Amino acid sequence: LLSPDGAVAPTIFAEMSAAALRTGAINLGQGFPDEDGPAEVLEAAREAISHGMNQYPPGRGFADLLEAISEHQRRFYGLEVDPRTEVIVTAGATEALTATLLALIDSPDDEVVVFEPYYDSYAAAVALAGARLRTVPLRLPDFQPDLEVLAASVTDRTRIILVNDPHNPTGVVFSPDVKAEIIRLADRHDAVIVTDEVYEHLTFTAPHVPIATLPGAADRTLTISSGGKTFSATGWKIGWIHGPADLITAVLTVKQYLTYVNGSAFQPAIALGLRLPDSFFTDAAAALARKHEILAAGLRDAGFEVIAPQGGYFTVADASNLGGVDAAAFCRALPERAGVVAIPLDAFVSAERRGDYSGLVRFAACKRVDVLEEAARRLAAAQ
Ligand code: PMP
Ligand code: GLN
Repeated sequence: LLSPDGAVAPTIFAEMSAAALRTGAINLGQGFPDEDGPAEVLEAAREAISHGMNQYPPGRGFADLLEAISEHQRRFYGLEVDPRTEVIVTAGATEALTATLLALIDSPDDEVVVFEPYYDSYAAAVALAGARLRTVPLRLPDFQPDLEVLAASVTDRTRIILVNDPHNPTGVVFSPDVKAEIIRLADRHDAVIVTDEVYEHLTFTAPHVPIATLPGAADRTLTISSGGKTFSATGWKIGWIHGPADLITAVLTVKQYLTYVNGSAFQPAIALGLRLPDSFFTDAAAALARKHEILAAGLRDAGFEVIAPQGGYFTVADASNLGGVDAAAFCRALPERAGVVAIPLDAFVSAERRGDYSGLVRFAACKRVDVLEEAARRLAAAQ
């Protein structure tokens, strides 16, 4: 039943969160916040339920949310998105991604180029769509890909170049050169760029630059995001995708048979969130940056070497100095040994590259400061 390469199998998050529950360890494995998002966003969902928004919403999503997404793209990035034809609401970024692959893949010879390590649903969705995965490794010290390797990986068989920027699990923001090369290659080989920007508001070194804003990209780019990270509501699963109307229609056609529609009462709440003042978004990024610093200081005290992220929920640290050359074994033992759960970077790679990132461990920083400090104390005490 499951794919032979193991891409479609129980997720690492289910396994690690179960370990956290079983051992009572602090869960710095799965990336979800342990504090609620803005009170007015939560209140808007409660009000929507009270006002009877409890039945199927329209297939594309409520018009007001589509309008709010369009306004958001104009306000932050100067992008013009027609709310009637160029955007749909999805069950999180996860469904947007899977529906896109199912919609655009035509033949088993179609290839999807993905940067590796990758968020685990990417390889699974490529397998479900019946396409071939072509991976381009992200390399230390900065996790940018080699442009020649990238160029060699994109061919006329490439249907999609799948990008995640800012990137989970490495925390990298792709350089302008990398983004320009992605666009050049997509144009040359007539590929679609699918870009997952769920961490768009959580960058620390520079503002986010969506690929769709760059020259030559808009006509062949589908941009995916979600309210989960921005509003600390990962369980609500309100995502969206925008891009050229014909591609959006294809994705919507598939979405009808995956979930049909989703999250009616959460849609007005996310619409309200997207219209919050700029200060909400800058404060959220600053608060997360501070958490990363606290986590990094704790990890360094415990003997890890830390690779500072440019965006997103995660900090990557090297455990090699701590006897963690095999980070998978290190992470398996960590809940019992230190009372902390973390995920080896090798959990986010394809079978043939397993071992390439050994020593590297991903820690979620999207937790309360006291939780991060306690995790750091436990890690230091266990060395
Ligand atoms: N893409 C990336 C890179 C993610 O980190 C996540 C969150 N785990 C998702 C997609 C899924 O987002 P959602 O919860 O909106 O489906
Ligand atoms: N995005 C989160 C992570 O990478 C959680 C995803 C999930 O549980 N499926 O940890």
